[in-house]
Amino acid sequence: MKNSVEKRQLTLRLVNHYCDLLEIKDRPDLIFYKKDILQLPREERGNITYKRLCGCYYIDSNVIYVNLSNHKTRKQLIDTVIHELVHKVSECTLPHGVMFDNMVKLISSLD
Ligand SMILES: [Zn+2]
Repeated sequence: MKNSVEKRQLTLRLVNHYCDLLEIKDRPDLIFYKKDILQLPREERGNITYKRLCGCYYIDSNVIYVNLSNHKTRKQLIDTVIHELVHKVSECTLPHGVMFDNMVKLISSLD
C-alpha cells in the first residue's frame, strides 16, 4: 500500500465488505487519527496509549479507530478490521483469547 489515502479507502471498503458479510446494519464509523479519538467522550476513550495500538472499537459511539501507520500490508488491515468487528458483534463481551481468535479466523475464512 503506497499511501494513507489508499489505506483509508481500502479500510473503508473492508469495513463495508465485512459488515455486509456479517449482516451488520448499524455500520460503525471509521476514524484514523488521534485528533478524532479526542472528539469521543472522555469516559469512552479512557487512557490508552495509541502509538502501538492497531485499532480500537468504541461501543458507545459505534466507532472503529484504525491506526494506519501500524499497518504495512492489506492482510494486516483485514485482520484489524475483522478483529474490531468481532468486538462490535460480540458487544465487547468476548474477551481476547482463543475463542476470539477463532472467531477472527472463521470470519477470515468466509471470503
Ligand atoms: Zn481487541
